[in-house]
Amino acid sequence: MNVVYSDRYQVDIGAHVFLTEKYVRVRDGLLARNLVRAAEIVEPEPARWNELALVHATEYLEKTRSGGFRASELALLELPWSPPVAEGFRLMAGGSVTAARLAAEAGGRLRGPEADGRRAGAEKRLAAAANLGGGFHHAFPSHGEGFCLYNDVAVAIRALQRDGVITRAAVVDVDVHQGNGTAFVFDGDPTVFTFSIHQEHNYPHPKPRGSLDIGLDDGAGDREYLEALARALPTVVDSRPDLIVYVAGADPFREDQLGGLDLTFEGLRDRDNLVLSTARDAGVPVVIVLAGGYARRVEDTSAIHIATIEEAIRLGA
Ligand SMILES: [Zn+2]
Repeated sequence: MNVVYSDRYQVDIGAHVFLTEKYVRVRDGLLARNLVRAAEIVEPEPARWNELALVHATEYLEKTRSGGFRASELALLELPWSPPVAEGFRLMAGGSVTAARLAAEAGGRLRGPEADGRRAGAEKRLAAAANLGGGFHHAFPSHGEGFCLYNDVAVAIRALQRDGVITRAAVVDVDVHQGNGTAFVFDGDPTVFTFSIHQEHNYPHPKPRGSLDIGLDDGAGDREYLEALARALPTVVDSRPDLIVYVAGADPFREDQLGGLDLTFEGLRDRDNLVLSTARDAGVPVVIVLAGGYARRVEDTSAIHIATIEEAIRLGA
């Protein structure tokens, strides 16, 4: 499976609950376990300014470029600004665009004429690619918040729509925090279905309505989570997306410092299997982005992300 990654995803944001070293750990873990070969890792280009402008306002982009943020804006963003930080986030946005293209291409190969010979009697395979970063679903067109500078999820969808690669898309956002920025961007757009399953009594407040929102009670565990997810996924498929963006946050984990759900490692793996096997069965390619994850032990966060990629590979990506 193609994975997109750069060492420059790890940026210095000072003492922070968001440890950008998780990206390096995920890459290292995938290589160490032979899940991904070094040759399959694609180094991204930063998102182009005209791609970012498909989602973000010109004035906002100028601030992200030059650092002209007020203190109150940085407080909302919960990130320090520096040129390497801004470039790291722009690079991760470019990574999501690249990974989305690779996922769509993989889907084309599985559907294309050269696949016909192999198709008879063969098991269905998942078409997927991953960005080992991204998932910054709290960024809005004109402001950033909650560690999210650019909404790479929305940028990737808009860039592929602009280029005619896809017409319709769906977002499956399983991060413990509702995907407020993404819901806002695609509000009223019939071509993009936004689904978020999250902890209701947690950031963000308020929660702009997406196409389908499930807000779980504090402390919801594996069973409750998986039942709700299983009920929702057919509705996502019914929206007939050409691509699913899987915002695979690790923060529904019971040990997460910013989450209040009670999912186990096994529950999170079942979650990934449910989403990815649903996409495989529907023949919809998936681009995976990592999003949040703030476990007390950073190795738990990276293990959850690695398991997501492993599950995609197991399903044939
Ligand atoms: Zn989160």
